[in-house]
Parts: sequence; C-alpha cells; structure tokens
Amino acid sequence: MSVDRVREAPAVVIDGRRLPIVEGATVLETLEASGIDAASGCRAGTCMKCVLRTDSPLPVGSQKGLREPLVREGAFVSCQTRPTGDIVLRGAAAPVPLDAHVRGVETVSKDVARVFLEPASTFEYAPGQYLDVIHPTGAKRSYSIASLPASGLLELHVRAVPGGLVSSWLHGRQPGDHLSIQGPFGQCYYLPTDPAQPLLLVGAGTGLSPLLGIARDALEQGHTGPIDLVHGGLIPERLYLQEELRAFAREAPSLRVHHCVLKEATPHEHEGPLDQVALKLAGAQAPDAARKRAFLCGDDAIVRTLQRSFFLAGVPSREIFADPFTPAVS
Ligand SMILES: Cc1cc2nc3c(=O)[nH]c(=O)nc-3n(C[C@H](O)[C@H](O)[C@H](O)COP(=O)(O)OP(=O)(O)OC[C@H]3O[C@@H](n4cnc5c(N)ncnc54)[C@H](O)[C@@H]3O)c2cc1C
Repeated sequence: MSVDRVREAPAVVIDGRRLPIVEGATVLETLEASGIDAASGCRAGTCMKCVLRTDSPLPVGSQKGLREPLVREGAFVSCQTRPTGDIVLRGAAAPVPLDAHVRGVETVSKDVARVFLEPASTFEYAPGQYLDVIHPTGAKRSYSIASLPASGLLELHVRAVPGGLVSSWLHGRQPGDHLSIQGPFGQCYYLPTDPAQPLLLVGAGTGLSPLLGIARDALEQGHTGPIDLVHGGLIPERLYLQEELRAFAREAPSLRVHHCVLKEATPHEHEGPLDQVALKLAGAQAPDAARKRAFLCGDDAIVRTLQRSFFLAGVPSREIFADPFTPAVS
C-alpha cells in the first residue's frame, strides 16, 4: 500500500479532538460542521472576528490583513484558511461569554445612547475593538468599545435602529440589569509602533465609539504625533458628544477634533462628503500621506468609500484599519 493511501486526511485539532477537513473546506467550516461554537462574522476576511491561533504551518494567505504582532503569535483568519495539513488550535474556537452588569444608559442624541457595562470577571481588550452583546434570544450583535480598560467600565455607543432587536433592547436596559457579552474581536486599535506617526480617525455616527477609544488609548500610551478625529453625520443632529470632544481636544493639544455634516452645517461644522472633508482637514494629500495611519469606522458603505479615498490619497493600505458596521444577517 502506498504511503499516500494510509496517510490520514488533514484535520483541525481542538482540545485533542481531530476534526477531519473535507477537501477545500476552511478551518471555520470544519469547526462548524462538527457543531463547535466558533466565532464568525463577515466570512470574507474583513471583520477578523474568526481569528484563531496555532503553532502549525499555515497555508499562504491565511494571515492576510492581520497586524504584525498577531502574525507573530500564529494568529490566522479561520474563514479564509483552507489547510492542506493538520492545524492544531491553541485555545478555544470562541471567547467564553461573560456576565456583565448594566451601570448606566445615557441618551446622548435622538437615537444614540452610551451604554456602560461592568464585566463580572476580567475582560481584556484594546479600546477600539468590539464585543458581542448576546440578547436573551441568543442573537448576537457587535458594539465597539470607547473606554479605556483602566476605567473599569465598558463604554458602548448604541444607535437605536428602527425595528432593531438588540439596539432597541439595549436602549431599554436599566442600571443593575445583567446581560452576556463575548469578545473582544477586531484589530482596529492603537499600537505604539511609531509614537510620532500622524493618526487620522474618521467615522460617521456611532463609528465615533471605536475612534474615541483609539484616541484615548493613543494619548494614554504617550502618542506624540498629531491625531485628527473627524466625526461625521448626515445633518448636525446626527452628531453627538460634540462638547465632550471639544473639551477632550482642549486637554490634549495634539488632538484636533473636526465635525462634518453632509448638509445643513451650522458654524460649528464643515459641510460636504465625509471623505473629502476628512482628507482636506487632515491634509492626507500632503507629501507625507504615506507616513499616516488611518482608522475608519462606522456605516459599511461610508467606511468602504473612505478606504478607497484614503488609499487613492496616498495612505498605504497596510496603514488603513477599518471596521465597517455591517448589519448582522440573523
Ligand atoms: C464590527 C462591528 C461593530 C459595530 N459597532 C457598533 C457600534 O459601536 N454601535 C452601533 O450602534 N452599532 C454597531 N454595529 C452594528 C450592530 O452590531 C447592529 O448591527 C445594530 O445595532 C443593529 O442591530 P439590531 O439587532 O438592533 O437590528 P437588527 O434586528 O439586526 O436589524 C433590524 C433591521 O434593521 C436593518 N439594519 C440593521 N442595521 C442597520 C443599519 N446600520 N442601517 C440601516 N438598517 C439597518 C436590518 O437589515 C433589519 O432589517 C457594529 C457592527 C459591526 C459588524
């Protein structure tokens, strides 16, 4: 009998269990086919929710889009990884859900509330990452984190989507209520690789939440380069926390906050499409565009437009980190 015929099919190995990989299947599909609760999101290699870790050799392309420290840790994007050999997983296929107490729900605009949660046990995250809130029906929705870990509370900005299951439910929570969270996920967060690098933080609506987290974290970690935070909305009423952001910028001279609306600008806002206003304000077309790092968050279509515009303006794609708030499919 030839060696090939007796060789076992490649498998995903988790907790000592071998899960054979059907030819062409991804690691994520293999886990799901075995009934394992694996974290997953866009399934297109964008949201980075399904990132897992291994010491096994990985096929080409399975670490595409991951930041350098994660690559070194053996992280890979499980929805994009079609192994040809065994992949032994390090750790679980999804973070364990945690209990959290609601500490406050503060209305900050017509349809946005800041929700403050206190995890019942240690929840390690980087500001700007996101977590899933688990609704009593089991439905999960992602919300980005604006707070710093040292604050002890998780700050989320939640827009009530008309007819939305989880966002409306979150708006109705009371202090003391319990809920389950899972995470953290995503790689939209600050890393102190170049403390003098100019940062561009651009987003619309509740895209402000991760951007605020990143700005707070960068300043906390001693970032010295200029930080331009551009918050956009369709009309002035769609902006929120304007005064708090201005006060934050007064305390931190390297931080410049800009407000931008598509129409009906008052003297406090710049008018025009967010990508054009952001590029102009942040000087991204200047000769040093290639030095900048951009974080783009919020509405799916807006983030994709910003990504394109920033790339065309000379910001290298490896320096563009994006979290599109893609609506959940179930
Ligand atoms: C990585 C990531 C981070 C996110 N961070 C945040 C955040 O910080 N703050 C925040 O408010 N949201 C955020 N979201 C969006 C959030 O996860 C939910 O999709 C949103 O709250 C709607 O959930 P829902 O259960 O209320 O609505 P659903 O019950 O899922 O949807 C109800 C209806 O509304 C539609 N719908 C859902 N979302 C939208 C939308 N944005 N625009 C128009 N129609 C919509 C649905 O297609 C459906 O028809 C994030 C999403 C992702 C993927």
